[in-house]
Amino acid sequence: MSTYKFFEQVNHNFDLAAPYTRFEKGVLEQIKVCNQVYSITFPIRRDDGTVEVIKGWRAEHSHHKLPTKGGIRYSHLVNEDETKALAALMTYKCAIVDVPFGGAKGGISISPSKYSVTELERITRRYTYELIKKNFIGPAVDVPAPDYGTGAREMAWILDTYRQFSNDLNAEACVTGKPIQQAGVRGRTEATGMGVYLGVREACNDTEDMKALGLKPGLEGKTYIVQGFGNVGYHSAKFMSEHGAILIGVAERDGSVYSEKGIDPDTLLQWMKEKGSILGFPGTVSSKEKYKILEEQCDILIPAALENQINEKNASKIKAKIIAEAANGPTTRDAHDTLKKRGALIIPDVYLNAGGVVVSYFEWLKNLQHVRFGRIEKRFEENSMKNMIDAMEKISKTSFSDQERLNLAQGAGEFELVMSGLEDTMITAYLEINELRKKHTVDLRTASYINSINKVGTIYEQMGIFP
Ligand code: NAD
Repeated sequence: MSTYKFFEQVNHNFDLAAPYTRFEKGVLEQIKVCNQVYSITFPIRRDDGTVEVIKGWRAEHSHHKLPTKGGIRYSHLVNEDETKALAALMTYKCAIVDVPFGGAKGGISISPSKYSVTELERITRRYTYELIKKNFIGPAVDVPAPDYGTGAREMAWILDTYRQFSNDLNAEACVTGKPIQQAGVRGRTEATGMGVYLGVREACNDTEDMKALGLKPGLEGKTYIVQGFGNVGYHSAKFMSEHGAILIGVAERDGSVYSEKGIDPDTLLQWMKEKGSILGFPGTVSSKEKYKILEEQCDILIPAALENQINEKNASKIKAKIIAEAANGPTTRDAHDTLKKRGALIIPDVYLNAGGVVVSYFEWLKNLQHVRFGRIEKRFEENSMKNMIDAMEKISKTSFSDQERLNLAQGAGEFELVMSGLEDTMITAYLEINELRKKHTVDLRTASYINSINKVGTIYEQMGIFP
């Protein structure tokens, strides 16, 4: 395990990038520090009648833009340092993808599997109440979202609790990642995985980089291994495989499965849901050893579980040419150096898993607008396109098939608009960091931090520092 704490590692990455920016020491220090941390303990009654004290945190790293934004994590490993590190990553991430939020993160130190659904609901509602009391939640203040161990269900509980204390017309924007029926946005569940696929695709389209790695440009035919088959891991795999990459291995909490011939992500997910484990999946070799598989030969390794998974113990044994950091902080600083020395391309977390917050931003906008994306213009667009097709048919004296008409005259619905906004954001951000990488001859991680320091620092220079 790394000897550095997670927040130290994030700050180390910041320090590597800072000399490439124009900001004075004080401004850099202000960007780096965590502005506010709320440490919470509260009791809940368990189903068996006993009382248990629960420990949680909410960290708001930077208030240069409001609201602050960041997920809520449920894991027995959650601690204050981790929450601060993840909040800082959110600040840098939002800046890289031009999402106008400061960074925040929340966490509760519990293993969700050890609690019943009703207990989890009590914990979530009480945590939300504590955040409300201290003004650590609100559409204009701080907006949580799902992270490791939480999902749409928890976000719905948070919204419902918030509503009981607020008659704010915009209350729905107090949390994102909600179910569609509770003012969520289509595409949020798959957003982070879709963003991972888009970022990897951009990296694989760089002919020079692929040549240096001895790989052909493009995603088609590239083999990959995923660690963690939860929300981010599964969706990354789904979109990677749909676009021609071949999933050859998956690691989960209780072991791993491997097949040279390829694994279908949807069938594996179905198996995992039915059996409660990926092990024994037909056509694969199963092992109870969950870390060895990260060292298998493959083109792309996607860590999508937790931090510090690629560390000084296994970094030198990892053979993947591309490390696509879907999880937050999966590579320790020493491991990063080892991989880099070997010539691996590391697509950093702070850019690669930003798809979630991008679509959370869209959800927040939807909630403030009180209207579904595409609702007003979809039919109008379709009718205009139909009129255009009719005119083209008349002029050319040929006619389109029903399928062609359908394809051409399709107005964009919410899902299509969200995905299009996400794709544009991931491409633009990659171009920006790739340009900085080349300009300063640094790696993608340092380039990403340079980009965010430039954006956040400019705002701090212009405002927010009292004379
Ligand atoms: P999740 O809870 O849905 O899934 C995580 C999966 O990892 C689980 O299936 C768990 O069993 C597995 N896992 C845990 N320890 C493991 C180990 N040692 N080896 C293999 N598998 C292991 O969580 P998630 O939302 O997919 O988050 C995963 C990572 O992505 C986290 O680092 C999170 O911060 C990051 N992330 C998530 C989002 C999001 O929108 N959910 C956005 C950005 C970043």
